[in-house]
Amino acid sequence: MKSLWNDADAAKCNDDLDLRVYSSRLLGADESLVMHGGGNTSVKSVVRDFFGDEVEALLVKGSGWDLGTIERPGFTALRLAETQRLATLDELSDLDMTRELTRQKLDPGAPSPSVEAILHAVLPAKFVDHTHTDAVVTLTNTPNGEALTRELYADCLVLPYVMPGFILSKQVADAIASEDLSRYAGIILLHHGVFTWGEDARGSYERMIELVDRAERFLAERGRVVHAGGEAELDLDGLARIRKAVSSARGRAQLAVIDRSGDAVGYASRDDVAVIATRGPITPDHVIRTKRVPVVLAESPKEGVPEVEAYTQAYRAYFEANHFEGLTMLDQAPRAGVWRNRGTLAFGNTLKECAIIADIARHTRWAIQTAESLDGSNAGWAALSPKEIFDLEYWSLEQAKLKKAAPPSVHTGKVAVVTGAMQGIGRAICEQLKADGAVVVGLDIDGAIEKSFDAAGMLGRVCDVTDEQSVRQSLEAAVERFGGIDIAVSNAGVFRPGERVADMTDEAWDTTLRVNLTGAQRFLKHASRFLVHGVDATAIVVGSRNVAAPGPGAGAYSASKAGLTQLARVLALELAPQGVRVNTVHPDAVFDTALWTEDTLKTSAKRYGLTVEEYKTRNLMKREITSADVGRLVSAMAGPAFALTTGAQIPIDGGNDRVI
Ligand code: ZN
Repeated sequence: MKSLWNDADAAKCNDDLDLRVYSSRLLGADESLVMHGGGNTSVKSVVRDFFGDEVEALLVKGSGWDLGTIERPGFTALRLAETQRLATLDELSDLDMTRELTRQKLDPGAPSPSVEAILHAVLPAKFVDHTHTDAVVTLTNTPNGEALTRELYADCLVLPYVMPGFILSKQVADAIASEDLSRYAGIILLHHGVFTWGEDARGSYERMIELVDRAERFLAERGRVVHAGGEAELDLDGLARIRKAVSSARGRAQLAVIDRSGDAVGYASRDDVAVIATRGPITPDHVIRTKRVPVVLAESPKEGVPEVEAYTQAYRAYFEANHFEGLTMLDQAPRAGVWRNRGTLAFGNTLKECAIIADIARHTRWAIQTAESLDGSNAGWAALSPKEIFDLEYWSLEQAKLKKAAPPSVHTGKVAVVTGAMQGIGRAICEQLKADGAVVVGLDIDGAIEKSFDAAGMLGRVCDVTDEQSVRQSLEAAVERFGGIDIAVSNAGVFRPGERVADMTDEAWDTTLRVNLTGAQRFLKHASRFLVHGVDATAIVVGSRNVAAPGPGAGAYSASKAGLTQLARVLALELAPQGVRVNTVHPDAVFDTALWTEDTLKTSAKRYGLTVEEYKTRNLMKREITSADVGRLVSAMAGPAFALTTGAQIPIDGGNDRVI
């Protein structure tokens, strides 16, 4: 580990807080030092209160900020003396600690201070740095971890694990009351992390780097540190099956993101992986993201995936064994998985949640394999006991961090695939499903789809629905990326005006039938493979008012949509036993789509002797129907209000007496 300190950058800092931001970001730049909120920093400085009076303050990292991206507002100023005084109490409940720290904020609008704020306050140095660094914690998570740590860090204060927050602050305050802190280079907290300090930002930061470097060198010398690598085939049906089992354990749809990197596959292929992967996390604070252990899954998951059921049972037993008065059990679903010989998995409501879990899993397997590779009796992964992990998992201050996430929307955790997604109705459906929480895979023959769908949670793929291979590959890509398919919307279609039967070219007929009917059949056929493993799965077919009320000049279009509607009814019969709903939406007169140009609008209006405006609102309610209206209906049809509806045809046409 090397110092990233740069004098030129540091010289641009104007005050203590600038320097604090600068060196915090240096720590945050290295994932092996701090990950997703694991770690915090502070500086003691004089600030001015509302009256302009000088106040001695502790500026400590606020909750919700990551060190890698922290800015000045990410530090909360607390009155220093009062914060220090809290450590003199014999006891302080979490509720009181939160209240008292809130009371000491100089700016009531500043973020909640770190749960380690009191500890930062009692360390008698200007700058204090704290990390949950992989290397040091790995060393402490071994059978002889404490002895090895005391030997390697003879110049540090080494303290046994206690709960973070007030108890840890008190432990450190008591320890340093009877010790001359200047003798020590830092504090090593077993199974937790490292504290360093200094009168200047650089000193505190570089001491941290030095202490971490020491552990890294030790592990490299004493361990064989051979981290397995490998390659594996992806079993998409197995993946969808696993995702469904985890979703039902969680009680809502979950994304399932697979890591098939050589490193992940190598780990999942180790003979001993089921044993070493299930001993516990690197540091207990990971538990709120990953739960205590991952689920270990067989290479070829059986129907129903019994390992997930066993996991939930084991979780209930863990709760029973460790819970105390007043606790309510959290959900029992795994957040991480080790899929034998195939890779590792992250399960979550959102892609962001999955990315955090995947990051933690990557660091965890490095740590476990490193510990396992140490020489002789030093080898092994010895995490904290389930009870200690449990206490942190159910600690109100840790659970509070999760509550900051946005509440789930109706389609959160669901995966939708929509054809003809580039424009018009297809586009509007994608946007509504996304707004309602789903991740959306948009398929279109237009090559611009990939760039157009590059937002988080959206994937654009070029797909020709008339090409069976292209359809199959696109659906497989959706499963590979997100773990399954819950909502399949068949929307792609063409409309050739002037299709009077007498004048219709064979080409017009063939193309219309090929895209609107055969293309939809290919899509529904291959989507069905995954929908049967989906969560509240549904296929939705975009039909047309023409099915019930055809007009002249649209023979091929009307015939294709009528055929498609019949196909959807048959599919509804076929998939109902597996819980998959199939419904058809019949829009009419949606003119903000690529099917309609100025010219086609004028021609059609003229045919009925109407102006374009009259033609657009030619329905019983005299209302224009937009793509967004259809998007809202389709998203609703994919949701719980339609949970018991299948084989239905829902018009969205402003009312049509020929349909009614
Ligand atoms: Zn910590």
